[in-house]
Amino acid sequence: MGKYAEFYKRSIEQRDDFWAEQSALIDWQTPPQKICDFSKPPFANWFVGGKTNLCHNAVDRHAAKRPNDRALVYISTETNEEKSYTFAELKSEVMRAAAIMKSLGVGRGDRVLIYMPMIAEATFAILACARIGAIHSVVFGGFASGSLATRIDDAKPKLIVSSDAGMRAGRAVPYKHLLDEACKLAQFPPEKVLMIDRGLDKGWPKVAGRDVDYAELRAKHMNADVPCEWMESTEPSYILYTSGTTGKPKGVQRDTGGYAVALAASMKHIFQGGEGETMFSTSDIGWVVGHSYIIYGPLIAGMATIMYEGTPIRPDPGIWWQLVEKYKVNVMFSAPTAVRVLKKSDNSWLHKYDLSSLKHLFLAGEPLDQPTHEWIMGELKLPVIDNYWQTETGWPILSTVRGVEDTKIKFGTPSFPVYGYDLRIFREDGTVCDANEKGIVGIVPPLPPGCLSTIWGDDDRFVSTYFSLFKEPQVYSSFDWGIKDDEGYHFILGRTDDVINVAGHRLGTREIEEAVQGHAAVAEVAVVGVSDQLKGQEPVAFAVVKDPARIATPELRAALEAEIKKVVDGNLGAIARPKRVHFVTGLPKTRSGKMLRRSIQALAEGRDAGDLTTIDDPSTLEQIKAALAG
Ligand code: ATP
Ligand code: MG
Repeated sequence: MGKYAEFYKRSIEQRDDFWAEQSALIDWQTPPQKICDFSKPPFANWFVGGKTNLCHNAVDRHAAKRPNDRALVYISTETNEEKSYTFAELKSEVMRAAAIMKSLGVGRGDRVLIYMPMIAEATFAILACARIGAIHSVVFGGFASGSLATRIDDAKPKLIVSSDAGMRAGRAVPYKHLLDEACKLAQFPPEKVLMIDRGLDKGWPKVAGRDVDYAELRAKHMNADVPCEWMESTEPSYILYTSGTTGKPKGVQRDTGGYAVALAASMKHIFQGGEGETMFSTSDIGWVVGHSYIIYGPLIAGMATIMYEGTPIRPDPGIWWQLVEKYKVNVMFSAPTAVRVLKKSDNSWLHKYDLSSLKHLFLAGEPLDQPTHEWIMGELKLPVIDNYWQTETGWPILSTVRGVEDTKIKFGTPSFPVYGYDLRIFREDGTVCDANEKGIVGIVPPLPPGCLSTIWGDDDRFVSTYFSLFKEPQVYSSFDWGIKDDEGYHFILGRTDDVINVAGHRLGTREIEEAVQGHAAVAEVAVVGVSDQLKGQEPVAFAVVKDPARIATPELRAALEAEIKKVVDGNLGAIARPKRVHFVTGLPKTRSGKMLRRSIQALAEGRDAGDLTTIDDPSTLEQIKAALAG
């Protein structure tokens, strides 16, 4: 048995011993009495009796030993700011923010909603909540009032921390009026709103008695000395809503001790970053990757973390790599969608800078197709690791765990179940699939530390949403299709509601997309099933090409469409051949970069696009409509 196989086996078969060892990676004020309490399945309580604090582990313990080491770098290519904070400075800023929150009446267990752009103060606010035991609920900055209002009413925050505006591609996106509107719509508006005024949106309206100014209060608390509140391991640390790709977002509730241990272990075994090193995650604090791998994970590991406000292509497509060189980034984390953007631009940008500090690039969030995986690994000449997980789990479910064993990377697969996850692929009758047989990715509970403990305020919904796939056994459903090959590598084939039924054959949209992507001219594609009287459903593709010259005339378009269909025929057979391949310049995605197939499908079937609260660029839907009409 390989080293990793042994490590994995132990994590499942000697679960408590395994996690007891991992728990030594963090500081405890009181050590846990029981490693896992699973007496009320599917609810799992980790490190029961233990007391700890996320902010202590992320900030204080490093500030005590290495006060002058870099902890946080804030870079904005939008406002041209660049500022570094040492661990000592970060601790001071967090204590100031914590003192401000306390002065506004926030205490242990109170919710604080954070509606902020990617600026350093957002990190201070998040860590300040952790410090005083308040529960943060970060909502992606710039979300529409309606979406914000629902999240306010779900979490009932005492305080909202916000800012006048975010910046995107050179334009200020004012937040304050969206926030005011949301507070009007909400049934449970906050008592106080703490405003960080960036001076980007002059003259935002101030609500008397409610809105307070951060800079003013900070000046009063310059010497704040706020100790960490020692939290029960099982006490909630935060609420975070899922991306909403498939419908109404779910409020994931995270614990304290289990999350800290899971992240510390993942930094060691998966991301392989440690003290004195630097991590750059290109995500946003509004998403789970931002929570786990911009803020908590790297800081808990004692790394410096980079917070970047800006796009991957401004001022030019070399910007990320320029930052890697400048800050000697060791570990980088991004999303396939960003790599596809780079793939569309000139690859010389990837070779302009000294990237020798970089050990690994991690990609997650959506399927990493084989051609893109191969391309980026070839360009960077370093391991590019696809990892599969969910907001719910907080850290990877499938990945190679190269910190334990240097296993081979296979293109197009996030590889193996990560230690702690008793992952299996299930048939729809609840039995386990054979190798190479497609099924639903499920996890046998207890879910490992770090995963959601419940849905905020709704234990019943937690059980009925995630654990009701089969009557027996009780299994956590990922709502994704997967397959395991002969060598144990796992492939994610798409979401369970993204299946096309063509004349009785069930095809994953992902499989067809991967086939279309096999054509060298295609940069990106979405495939949806469109209802057809005869066949049940038929696949229809919407493709973005790398070079617009390929679709400059109707003749060229028709020729390319025919070529693409041929590629699909060759890869999957005529049954999977898209009825049409439409060409567009962009595809509708959530702000976290996930394809909104349900909206595309709705339009293709002549229906309304549905709930669009999380869409990034609504104009992409107009293109889909135009393509369908023309
Ligand atoms: P909602 O649950 O509200 O519909 P969502 O599922 O898009 O939203 P997230 O938790 O952000 O919200 O996304 C997790 C999903 O993203 C996974 O279930 C999977 O479908 C997809 N995903 C994430 N990483 C990968 C990966 N490496 N390969 C394939 N799919 C991935
Ligand atoms: Mg989901």
